[in-house]
Amino acid sequence: MANKRDYYEVLGVDKTATEEEIKRAYRKLAKKYHPDANPTNKAEAEKNFKEVNEAYEILSDKQKRQMYDQFGFDGPQYGGGQGGGYYSYGSGFDGFGGFSDFGDLGDLGDIFSSFFGGGSSRTRTNPNSPRKGSSLKVNLDITFEEAYMGIEKEISINRNETCKYCKGTGAKAGTSPVVCSNCNGTGKIKQVITTPFGQMSTQKVCSTCGGVGKVIKEVCQECKGKGSIRKTVKIKVKIPEGIDDGQTIVLKGEGEPGINNGANGDLYIVIRIKKHNIYSRKGEHVFCEVPITYTGATLGTEIEIPMVDGKKEKFKIPEGTQTGTKFTIKNKGFKSVNGSWRGDFVFIVTVQVPKKLTREQRDLILELAKTMNEQPPIKKKGIFG
Ligand SMILES: [Zn+2]
Ligand SMILES: [Zn+2]
Repeated sequence: MANKRDYYEVLGVDKTATEEEIKRAYRKLAKKYHPDANPTNKAEAEKNFKEVNEAYEILSDKQKRQMYDQFGFDGPQYGGGQGGGYYSYGSGFDGFGGFSDFGDLGDLGDIFSSFFGGGSSRTRTNPNSPRKGSSLKVNLDITFEEAYMGIEKEISINRNETCKYCKGTGAKAGTSPVVCSNCNGTGKIKQVITTPFGQMSTQKVCSTCGGVGKVIKEVCQECKGKGSIRKTVKIKVKIPEGIDDGQTIVLKGEGEPGINNGANGDLYIVIRIKKHNIYSRKGEHVFCEVPITYTGATLGTEIEIPMVDGKKEKFKIPEGTQTGTKFTIKNKGFKSVNGSWRGDFVFIVTVQVPKKLTREQRDLILELAKTMNEQPPIKKKGIFG
């Protein structure tokens, strides 16, 4: 409170000033501290403006002025004294909400908000500046084998394409958009508002052209003036060898068209790999289960393993192979998308115990059984048990 400047001093008027003199002083100062006139010291201007407004709020009101004259800043502004606190000049100026109380200054709120940053016209981006088009996202399902070997696919997407009849202008072929007569091509409308302290100008986006500064007289019939046409387009996608489920391929510039010659958006293709009924994948390694016969496991055997690329790989199973044994064929897994190395092909054997035997086979096994009649010891559980 102690630092507050006297309201008469703020407005630069005498204590005996008439209503008209106070109004005139206020107009002058409001113009002076108009931030448009003080672009380099907006903060200072705002501070002064608040001070001027607070002073005017009090001195323009007969009762408030009288209280102020009598009690100064220490008046019974909080309702303790006579009359029950109908004014509050001591509480300071807190924002612009109070301007609605000014009555004959009705348009001030607009002006204040526009030059104190609350207005939208200053923060809105120029509608003519180039903007990148929106990006699109699609999912693409491929098979395990396709991911393994890589493939080129053609996909269909729906997107807007720049209208070739009007080249995106939206104006009928042979014509072009004309300068908006409402704003003379500026995209903005200056509004002059008459206030008690004089005329002030403020800018609004031109409603005729939406701020673009141009209007279309004859609309392009092909795109109905939008400048773009929704189309289904086919796009070729090269899917690299080794791609994994959930990875994304980005095709630059294949999204929605840019605006005002801005760059096109991008197309994001999210790869989804269908489950395979034989193979599974962990990182770059391929896993699969390979059944072998009981005799093959016992005596050892050579088997053919089906690889992901359709080829067969010969593999020697040593004698005495147990079910669950893991074998690795090096460098036959997925190729790393980011490198030149490959993962491995890992297969786990399951020993098939015959369910049906011919009489002859049964006799042979019986003979075998006689030679190995001992129950094997029960295995203790190890860490991997
Ligand atoms: Zn068109
Ligand atoms: Zn306009």
